Amino acid sequence: MSTQRQADLIDLAGRVLMQNYRQPPIVMARGQGVELFDVAGRRYLDMTAGIAVCALGHAHPALAEAIAQQARTLVHTSNLYFIEQQILLAEDLARISFADRVFFCNSGAEANEAALKLARRYHRVVRGEPRDVVVSTDGSFHGRSFATVSITGQGKYREGFGPLVGPVRFVPFDDLDAAERALAPRDACAMIVEPIQAEGGIHVPSSGYLAGLRELCDRTGTLLVFDEVQTGIGRTGRWFGYEHDGVAPDVMTLAKALGGGVPIGACAATEAAAQGLAFREGGPVPHASTFGGNPLACAAARAVLRTIEDDGLLAHAAAAGDVLGAGLAELVAAYPGLCVDARGRGLLRGIALARGAADVVARCRDRGLLVSVAGGTVVRFAPALIVDRAHIDEALAILRAVLDEVADAR
Ligand code: PLP
Repeated sequence: MSTQRQADLIDLAGRVLMQNYRQPPIVMARGQGVELFDVAGRRYLDMTAGIAVCALGHAHPALAEAIAQQARTLVHTSNLYFIEQQILLAEDLARISFADRVFFCNSGAEANEAALKLARRYHRVVRGEPRDVVVSTDGSFHGRSFATVSITGQGKYREGFGPLVGPVRFVPFDDLDAAERALAPRDACAMIVEPIQAEGGIHVPSSGYLAGLRELCDRTGTLLVFDEVQTGIGRTGRWFGYEHDGVAPDVMTLAKALGGGVPIGACAATEAAAQGLAFREGGPVPHASTFGGNPLACAAARAVLRTIEDDGLLAHAAAAGDVLGAGLAELVAAYPGLCVDARGRGLLRGIALARGAADVVARCRDRGLLVSVAGGTVVRFAPALIVDRAHIDEALAILRAVLDEVADAR
């Protein structure tokens, strides 16, 4: 490990990688718990967990062992045959959620693609009532594939990629009247919403919003899809974000934390909605994925779920999230001109600034704290569910020092 090695790698990256990402000059070499170490040997306190992915932190022994054991046994067969780990993972997800059936894929975008295809085909083939429109919310984020970027309610992600997939009807988030108007024509196959808008800036809707959507979708015969890609698998202190509102969707999408860092996505549905992706006797396979639900990814996901359960990480995430949330609220009070709001739930938290957050995020990184930007002006915290009080105190102290610095510079 050396500074020269890191500089050489970054130089090489500049020549061989597509230039779609905008990255700081850091190459990560290894991780341990909530710490990351770069190739030059520098330590970082990781409050991003790979964008809400590494639920168990880095190099967790239970996850490492499950991956190693499965790698020695069977990595991949494709879905030409049943896969033991996939069947058992589906059983686990059905046990901890509203869902009866699960389709596995490899990412959040793919999970949402599956949900969209399910919704269209459910209406067209199962109900015999073609409905094409998807209702989505302003400020949402659902992925980067053509269909998911088309239903993402932030224009900047769609720029330069038209023509997009439609028809899509966008409504303001947390606005039941607008949702009612959008669903009234009864031409929507699905309404898709994040229980907390994450990439859009950590927006928690009013209590009753999700229940209101449930009622509207029931009334209009629309499938309700909760995109739990970021909020799922313990992030909010419960298994799924929808649990806080006491409602369940027809379809839920998962990815990110499900594999603890091993790529896996899932589209989970009620028995009725799942008919949207069921094959018909003599017909073609309606949807599929070569890698989806492969033995390695599913063994990893089962280890993640088992560890969250065995180690009581849901309650831990809720309690740690309260500590983090209180600390962020204190900072908002301490820097009234600079910070405007502290929000979130469990370990999905944000502090909204009165200016762009990129500079604060960069200064935190310079001081060894990794956080990320959400919605342009929000500093996002999405640490591993194992984060403890000492880590949170350290992160808050660094953020306070940065806010001091930024406030002085004004
Ligand atoms: N949905 C939500 C709510 C997300 O936050 C993200 C990614 O940030 C996605 C979908 C897309 O997931 P992926 O990047 O795995 O395709």
